[in-house]
Amino acid sequence: MLQIEIGPQTNIKALVAELPVAAQVMTAFGLGCSGCSVSTYETIEQGAAAHGLRIEPILAALKEARRSGSVPPIADEDRRPARRAPGAFSGRAKIAHVIPIMSGKGGVGKSLVTALVAIGLRRKHYRVGILDADITGPSIPKLFGLHEPLLIEADPVNKTAQGQPQPLMLPAVSRSAIEIVSSNLLTDQEDIAMIWRGPIVAGVIRQFYEQVLWSDLDFLLVDLPPGTSDAPLTVLQSLSIDGVVLVTMPQALATMIVRKAANLVHQLKRPILGVVENMSYFVAPDTGARHQIFGPSYADRVAELARAPVLARIPIDPSKAALADEGRIEEVDDPVCDELAEHLLSAVEAHPKAKETISLV
Ligand code: ADP
Repeated sequence: MLQIEIGPQTNIKALVAELPVAAQVMTAFGLGCSGCSVSTYETIEQGAAAHGLRIEPILAALKEARRSGSVPPIADEDRRPARRAPGAFSGRAKIAHVIPIMSGKGGVGKSLVTALVAIGLRRKHYRVGILDADITGPSIPKLFGLHEPLLIEADPVNKTAQGQPQPLMLPAVSRSAIEIVSSNLLTDQEDIAMIWRGPIVAGVIRQFYEQVLWSDLDFLLVDLPPGTSDAPLTVLQSLSIDGVVLVTMPQALATMIVRKAANLVHQLKRPILGVVENMSYFVAPDTGARHQIFGPSYADRVAELARAPVLARIPIDPSKAALADEGRIEEVDDPVCDELAEHLLSAVEAHPKAKETISLV
């Protein structure tokens, strides 16, 4: 029998299909992505790079597992992501594009849409982070099955006024190497609601931006709190953003409120990159007929008000809701992720930001 070659260019999904033990090897390296949809598009080299791991020990372990049929011992240092070598640390993370995801009201699926955009961008091999700024209803970690509190590390460059090392948060890393920071990951008691006053919320969001050891990212998506309160305003005003994505659903009320959000963004002279209509319709699995559960689409009207394109219309899909509930959203294998990413990339290109990349930390 012809054996699949194990090399840097080997596709992860194809390898696991042929050699199931490869999934265990990848998991042992902390590369839990072998089961997620991103791996369909990813080679071992790309997977290792995304997780900050050296490829040689991974290839060696995979070959050994093929020979012996089980996962060989793996050295701790080989599974520790090389975030930034301390010597190479310049004291600055470069984040090329910052894109807040905004909605007029809660419950329209803003967090799910944020996750789908992130997955779509990862499938195109971009480095992606999500700053969950929806402090009072943080749901991003749950979608990605992340529960462990964030680790804190001393800032290798900056000191506090008292000369102490500045503590920095390390982002959580999802199975497909999306970096995530959320107030839900600050304690290990997930079900304790955080009570924050408006100005504190704004402060926490700033900290999530500045006092986090983000990797150099191509995209940082910011899942904003719903509405037009202080917190989204702060983000729009104080971060160097490319533009906003507005999420809405086909409901007169949602449309009216998203209009307010669009006006706010325009008043602040920030671009709107596009509009996503979530829960747009439902396709009956038995007949294939489309039903407009919440009523006719308002997407075109909202897009006109926002002076921005419709990035995607996403149907109501119980399978996505189930994956979201189970913390396995990265297993979504839906072309809508690619559609969202492609349309967003075009919109970003159409709104070039001033050439600087923003320096943090
Ligand atoms: P928001 O962030 O706007 O408050 P969420 O993303 O948390 O909203 O979504 C609210 C609920 O609706 C979640 O349980 C989510 O899984 C579900 N949901 C969102 N979009 C869809 C969809 N297109 N199909 C099915 N369920 C969805």
